[in-house]
Amino acid sequence: MRIFNFSAGPAVLPEQVLQRAAAEMLDWHGSGMSVMEMSHRGKEFISIADKAEADLRTLMSIPDNYKVLFLQGGAMAENALIPMNLLGDKTAADYVNTGEWSKKSIKEAKKYCTVNIAASAEDRKFTYVPPQSTWKLNPQAAYVHICTNETIGGVEYHWAPDTGDVPVVADMSSHILSRSVDVSRYGVIYGGAQKNIGPAGVTLVIVREDLLGRALPITPSAFNWKEQAEADSMLNTPPTYAIYIAGLVFEWLHEQGGIAAIESRNIEKAALLYDYLDQSDFYSNPVDKADRSRMNIPFRLKDDFLDEAFLKGAREHGMVQLKGHRAVGGMRASIYNAMPIEGVRTLVAYMKDFEKRHG
Ligand SMILES: *Cc1c(COP(=O)(O)O)cnc(C)c1O
Repeated sequence: MRIFNFSAGPAVLPEQVLQRAAAEMLDWHGSGMSVMEMSHRGKEFISIADKAEADLRTLMSIPDNYKVLFLQGGAMAENALIPMNLLGDKTAADYVNTGEWSKKSIKEAKKYCTVNIAASAEDRKFTYVPPQSTWKLNPQAAYVHICTNETIGGVEYHWAPDTGDVPVVADMSSHILSRSVDVSRYGVIYGGAQKNIGPAGVTLVIVREDLLGRALPITPSAFNWKEQAEADSMLNTPPTYAIYIAGLVFEWLHEQGGIAAIESRNIEKAALLYDYLDQSDFYSNPVDKADRSRMNIPFRLKDDFLDEAFLKGAREHGMVQLKGHRAVGGMRASIYNAMPIEGVRTLVAYMKDFEKRHG
């Protein structure tokens, strides 16, 4: 029996993908091997990696002048690797602070360069995205870093910034592939896989070619985007099994009708929950309506002392991982691509019933 798993990450994967991986576990396509056992340089795995990249490129309409890298280390490692790979002869970078993940990126970047906080939403407890008209950008910055979906606070950019010649670097870990994105508006898009792509262990970096070659000499080769791009992400052993599962997820997304189709389903799923929250006096979500995340929806109950009973009842109704992050408290429902709409309906029905009994 599968449960409805609202975890922020590692998170729910499509059931069809898990079934296919199970069926192919011992013998992938007549090779007599599991994908886990394959040489990353053998023709079988090369075909898996090539197909994964090709499918991702069509899903996201990634222009030809962008490289797609499958690396290790997670988004957290990239927080350090971004300045290492992009500073070149510059010494400063701009950061927009929209919450917990922005703060982590800023903390890490400060080890390598001068960080200018171009804008911050801390004045209102990270419940909105500061409009670009308020950003104080440094024209000497090597790049402008944003987190386009704050997984903990539930704040999402529904627009792309325009920063002229200074490239935008976006942490899209928790909403990549949930909506259409004009890749050409960004210099670099990156994310850990375990929210909306696949299992933990693979990190996606999509980088515009002209930004390669700016790495600091101290950058480790395994994390040097140019060296990895030249080696098709196989300078060292890539996370082969995680890439294979990500590839199955990309195939599944194509079968669902691609990103436009999945996006309209995500809009519908998020509206179900937000509409219910907004008409209720018992539950609340603090984020400005225009900046609410479709993927991660934090909410509070009227009284925090009811939290435990809420979570216990949810478990009894087949729903887990609804506890909010300790930084914001309350509840959080992460409803990534693989969360079926029935999961959201079940949650809303349970919330209504809980409100009736405790409101
Ligand atoms: C989960 C997450 C990270 C951290 O990813 P790791 O793979 O654990 O390093 C960074 N940014 C965002 C937006 C996230 O959701």
